[in-house]
Amino acid sequence: MARYNHPLARRMTKVQQPRDVLVRFHEIGLKGKNQPMFVRRLVENLERATVGLGVERVWATRMLVRMRLAPEADWDAVRARTATVFGAVKFSLAARTEPDYDHISALLGETASARIFSTFRISANRTDKTFTLTSHDLNVRLGDEIREATGARVDLSHPEADFRVVVGRDDAFVYADDNRGAGGLPVGTGGKVAVMMSGGIDSPVAAWRMMRRGCKAVLVHFHAFPLVEGRSRDKAKELAELLNAWQYDTRLHLVPFADVQRRVILEVPGPLRVIAYRRFMVRIAEAIAAREGAQALVTGESLGQVGSQTLRNIATVDEAASMPIFRPLVGLDKSEIIDQAQAIGTYETSILPDEDCCTLFVPRSPATAVKPDQIAECEARLDVSALVAEAAAAAEVFEYHAPRA
Ligand code: ATP
Ligand code: MG
Repeated sequence: MARYNHPLARRMTKVQQPRDVLVRFHEIGLKGKNQPMFVRRLVENLERATVGLGVERVWATRMLVRMRLAPEADWDAVRARTATVFGAVKFSLAARTEPDYDHISALLGETASARIFSTFRISANRTDKTFTLTSHDLNVRLGDEIREATGARVDLSHPEADFRVVVGRDDAFVYADDNRGAGGLPVGTGGKVAVMMSGGIDSPVAAWRMMRRGCKAVLVHFHAFPLVEGRSRDKAKELAELLNAWQYDTRLHLVPFADVQRRVILEVPGPLRVIAYRRFMVRIAEAIAAREGAQALVTGESLGQVGSQTLRNIATVDEAASMPIFRPLVGLDKSEIIDQAQAIGTYETSILPDEDCCTLFVPRSPATAVKPDQIAECEARLDVSALVAEAAAAAEVFEYHAPRA
């Protein structure tokens, strides 16, 4: 019986294979009739994230999104950018060939010859069910060939090499490495939120978490310049630029807060001031959110992390808002937030020294249980709506944009 001549045996000369990146999604796949909208946005975001890197085309097929790489494309650069696109769960660089058995076998042989392994598995998947062999047949036949050519053993549970074969109608793919995607939902599918972003560790992570759920984040930073030097403004700009890598277009509002603070220290006793500041921030952020078409506010608070973040105080701050306030970090420990800040690359900027406007004219231990009527009594002596309108109107806006094709 004529045996197929395996490329490992016949030392086929290596040719540059055409390459596609196969991007898999998961949660989007459960979206029913809205799925096309999510997939379209994922495609657009992948295009935007990889501008200038030699990605020739990005398009959706039934089960996955494909990115066609130019021969000269730098895969490491494409990989790094693809890993920042929300909605992608896994992605792989796959070699492409004709959807027939001999081509697939040859390509698999070439892929296998590039690595060293003593155990392996083949995981074939037909997206085109008219292909003559079933996935199981492919696994068995291709597995036999690899076994004979290499002497490696099949291990279905913990293989050293896991060769994936995807057979579609017009082409077939072989790949052996999966990359972890950013997960979540494509940014831009979930509406817009206004994130109250200090220069600290937590709120940039909160912004990232909301983007990961599909929201565009407008950033709002309050600073006490000229009461202080104003370094927090530079940090906010730097953080905005870092966060822009995940959402491509970002608006940052720098809001002067010194006038509000001057008024608050006259009318609000020290222990209550942090909560008074926060309620002003919430109202001003809401005015900016309304202008930006954002539908909710976001903070970096985590329950009980500091005295101003007790349940009582959070409820008292919420009372000043009419929009929902999201706190995506509410259940996280500080160490978990720090890990996340390091992973997304904001940590180093966040720990640079600055002047936190919330600690200005505030005693070391602020009240941990401020009731709404205590604050309301103080606020009655202030022209709240005028102060809010003035601060919102005085905000400076900065924009950040990723390149477009
Ligand atoms: P962060 O690390 O984000 O500063 P934190 O744990 O230090 O948070 P606080 O300083 O008590 O907490 O602030 C709580 C939240 O209030 C912040 O996460 C942020 O959402 C908001 N906030 C505080 N200060 C500012 C500011 N100057 N500008 C914008 N938002 C702020
Ligand atoms: Mg802070």
